[in-house]
Amino acid sequence: MATSRRKQEERNLRVLREQGALEANRTCFDCRQRGTTYINMTIGSFVCTSCSGLLIEIVKAVAINPLTSIDPS
Ligand SMILES: [Zn+2]
Repeated sequence: MATSRRKQEERNLRVLREQGALEANRTCFDCRQRGTTYINMTIGSFVCTSCSGLLIEIVKAVAINPLTSIDPS
């Protein structure tokens, strides 16, 4: 069961990275700065680090790169 969940998480992360690599998703949805590092999970937009800091107060944001993960609670 844990293996199945981990495989699903790996698939989800792969899809997120593929989507993050698309040119349209490399620009912050909110401020238009290049270099997105987080996803606004409420509306599914890619945002920069600065905007994710603002959004984290009101919505759930998830880091694209797990090495820079932030607490989404
Ligand atoms: Zn931004």
